[in-house]
Amino acid sequence: MASLRRNNATRGTIDTSRPIGEGAFRVVYKGHYTKGEREGQPLVAKWFKTGVVFESRFYSEDIRAVDKAQVWTFVESSERAGQKHLVEPYIEDFCKFNSNTGVVFDQHDAWSQAMQALSHYSYHASGGSYVLCDLQGGMTDEGMTLTDPVILSRSGTRAYGATDLSLDGISTFFARHRCTKFCQSHWQQPRHQAIYFPAARGTTFM
Ligand SMILES: [Zn+2]
Repeated sequence: MASLRRNNATRGTIDTSRPIGEGAFRVVYKGHYTKGEREGQPLVAKWFKTGVVFESRFYSEDIRAVDKAQVWTFVESSERAGQKHLVEPYIEDFCKFNSNTGVVFDQHDAWSQAMQALSHYSYHASGGSYVLCDLQGGMTDEGMTLTDPVILSRSGTRAYGATDLSLDGISTFFARHRCTKFCQSHWQQPRHQAIYFPAARGTTFM
């Protein structure tokens, strides 16, 4: 069981008997909210495997990129008491549309094509400062809900954390991007496009 450290306090329970997903650094478990406006609805909780060095930094950076995710802390009675984890609503039929190295999934699917255009548009709309990518999610009552995106930033300071692959990441993303029917021809693209990162289906950390 976990409790929230914010004003709109709520609670949930997590089935820790087996993860529903596992990445290079994190494990994902399912549970449900037991208190608050989402009471009864399913949730996912994610935390780091032991020994991941950038863990503490990641929680604040991930929150900067993902508004709906919340950092919760396990309650005293839990075997993980006091430890942090990310909690967000569970999404049915979860799928990934692109990665932060520009790999495209299901390129013939209209939703995927729209998501490739969204990444391209984010670069155009920010005047070439950012690319919103690693787009993944699924359909909910509110429409297409995206979770866990990555922001690549031009500044070179990796302002958005370990998954912000900076200028080389933006260059790599566009080297693999093929405009879809949802992209517009006047949208900006970086002049320099070259591949600096291997084509990874998962999320690349630096
Ligand atoms: Zn495009």
